[in-house]
Amino acid sequence: MTHPAQPKASHFINGEYVEDTAGTPIPVIYAATGEQIATVYAATPAIVDQALSTAKEAQKAWAKMTGTERGRILRRAADIMRERNHELSVLETYDTGKPLQETLVADATSGADALEYFGGLAGSLTGEHIPMGEDWVYTVREALGLCVGIGAWNYPTQIACWKGAPALACGNSMVFKPSETTPLCALKVAEILHEAGAPAGIYNVIQGMGEVGGALVTDPRVDKVSLTGSVPTGKKVYAAAAEGMKHVTMELGGKSPLIIFDDADIDNAVGGAINGNFYSSGQVCSNGTRVFVQKGIKEKFLARLAERTGNAILGDPMDEATSFGPMVTENQMNIVLGYIEKGKEEGARLICGGARADMPGYYIQPTVFADVTDDMTIAREEIFGPVMSVLDFDTEEEVIARANDTEFGLSAGVFTNDFSRAHRVIGQLEAGSCFINSYNDAPVEAPFGGVKASGVGRENSKEAIKHFSQVKSVYVRMGDVEAAF
Ligand code: NAD
Repeated sequence: MTHPAQPKASHFINGEYVEDTAGTPIPVIYAATGEQIATVYAATPAIVDQALSTAKEAQKAWAKMTGTERGRILRRAADIMRERNHELSVLETYDTGKPLQETLVADATSGADALEYFGGLAGSLTGEHIPMGEDWVYTVREALGLCVGIGAWNYPTQIACWKGAPALACGNSMVFKPSETTPLCALKVAEILHEAGAPAGIYNVIQGMGEVGGALVTDPRVDKVSLTGSVPTGKKVYAAAAEGMKHVTMELGGKSPLIIFDDADIDNAVGGAINGNFYSSGQVCSNGTRVFVQKGIKEKFLARLAERTGNAILGDPMDEATSFGPMVTENQMNIVLGYIEKGKEEGARLICGGARADMPGYYIQPTVFADVTDDMTIAREEIFGPVMSVLDFDTEEEVIARANDTEFGLSAGVFTNDFSRAHRVIGQLEAGSCFINSYNDAPVEAPFGGVKASGVGRENSKEAIKHFSQVKSVYVRMGDVEAAF
């Protein structure tokens, strides 16, 4: 019998499901059991061409609609997503292995927020009037054209919406390629947008590995590329996009600092560290994986952290009591287990976890290392799994320098009850998305993105509009034209 997660076909192009089994088969594995639940096929060159030519053509009429009309469609799609939240959350759980306890509140709901927010903004994307004496200049905020979105595997619904909603609000069309690890959810986003009234060809989804992503990025019909992925992929995609002078948004990896001062509320700080390391089993780009704890509260912090981490419920992700799911794939599990071994070898002190959980599926115990030093591999490289490194520090000046000593710059957090210190420290941290006495909140109203190697551009908020549109300026002369001859 076909599994309920099996999509009707691999791709969604021009308002309908399209199949081409000539492409490389991509198995979809449920991370909680290791069983294959679906198969899709990578896009062949013919599918890539069909998606791009359809999106290019459809964009012209879409951009001519009023912003309010476009926005109404996006907001209708948001409503449908909310109505189907349970079904979409189950699919997200099949796609990623994340527990339903999380997916019910963080995925389709976050996607719906983006569709609603950008749907609301679509009617107010206007230009300026600039008086020049009796002459004047007006500006027009125009769509870029055809945008490509390429997703990572940790938030397949959210990423498809965070890219699609602002792109469509501005009058662009999109071809979205999900990660080959989680190909299912973006198809539902396309189906819902179509059901909500998006004209055929405005939002298309095609499957494939890096090769298909590469074909999209280098195609001359494409005007912009928005990637969520790792730094090495980001460098390749950025370079390929530059070759065609395309616009880019790069949402890449991180190794973010979370700084806890002696005067912080310990339970809130422990809660922040848990949210910043163990949500989605640690598979979150903005995680605060270098937890700097001031020496005065170190042992108290570690004791409370170990106690609360012990309350994590590992189990069937479809059981709403489960609070901690598996790694997305066997491969990712092995990468993370390799980092745990490195941590032990390099002399970090294991506080809890430190091994694969004794159950089917790709589960790793939530793991905390203390006495981590700046040069250890687990303190330098992005692990993308449930491995928290706790480092000690003495002074504010010292911790700021150490926090910034990384190629990454996605997020940073500070826990303290001294608000002048909180703002002073945040002001000096090299990161795009920061938190004071909190960690990992990502509301659609706030800009999200990184500095340094963690990325270029911003998603969410009004900032995203700037990255999915361009400004035309028009000088209007009221009098005669003077010329030298
Ligand atoms: P990845 O870099 O391996 O792949 C990302 C996407 O790029 C996939 O869809 C992949 O098929 C595609 N791709 C690979 N090579 C390509 C190429 N040469 N040209 C075009 N496309 C190509 O990343 P991943 O393993 O799927 O995801 C994990 C990474 O994503 C982590 O580093 C994580 O920090 C990052 N991430 C960042 C954010 C953010 O918003 N900043 C969010 C989630 C994940």
